[in-house]
Amino acid sequence: MINLTIDNRKIEAESGRFILDVARENGIVIPTLCSHESIEPTGSCRLCVVEAKQGKRTRIVTSCLYPVAEGMVVDTKSERVKAVRSLVLQLLLARCPESGQLKEMAEEMGVGPEPRFTPDQDNVKCILCRMCVRTCEKVVGVSAIGFSYRGTEKNVCTPFKEESATCIGCGACAYICPTGHIEMTTTETGDTRTIWERTFKMKACKVCGRYFAPEDQLAYISAKTGVPAEELAVCVSCR
Ligand code: SF4
Repeated sequence: MINLTIDNRKIEAESGRFILDVARENGIVIPTLCSHESIEPTGSCRLCVVEAKQGKRTRIVTSCLYPVAEGMVVDTKSERVKAVRSLVLQLLLARCPESGQLKEMAEEMGVGPEPRFTPDQDNVKCILCRMCVRTCEKVVGVSAIGFSYRGTEKNVCTPFKEESATCIGCGACAYICPTGHIEMTTTETGDTRTIWERTFKMKACKVCGRYFAPEDQLAYISAKTGVPAEELAVCVSCR
């Protein structure tokens, strides 16, 4: 175990853990858009920057990827940190001016309301954080989506922007997306779900009759786990 200070609080932590995780466990909130316990951090959004002092050296670091160390002094709210975060958020807002989540965050952090950079006209809500791509690959195990093009044209989509044969309609990518970019719609009755321009038939629970999961997703789970499809035909509430 090592000792460090975060926002003037003395904290004991396991060596090698990341600053963001240690701060969270101690109730210290650091804003971030691309961090989730189910996937490895990549430091994509850069909003989690903090000031870390080790010896005589003070640096702005990405807290989700920077390990704690003995004697380290971390400041998550210094003026320097606020200035960097504000700049990062202004850049993200310029790319995704219509993202409600980004606007909300900007308000909370006192950024704006006038954009500092010329907003993008494409009206996308994707900040290219890769959360959806990594979740589909690492958590779901399907790899149905990825990135296309480069530079300003870069975007996330299904291969060749065609209907994906491997997508199981689980919706994990839409759930994890921090800016609401991925659209997932369900009919009023709940019998179908549409995501990535493919419509999935939903399974009705054999006990309560409520539609609860795409049939493709249940078939995938059955094939992966060996649990008979019939046993998966009951929703969580009725199990
Ligand atoms: S809905 Fe499709 S693309 Fe999204 S995580 Fe599930 S399998 Fe992957």
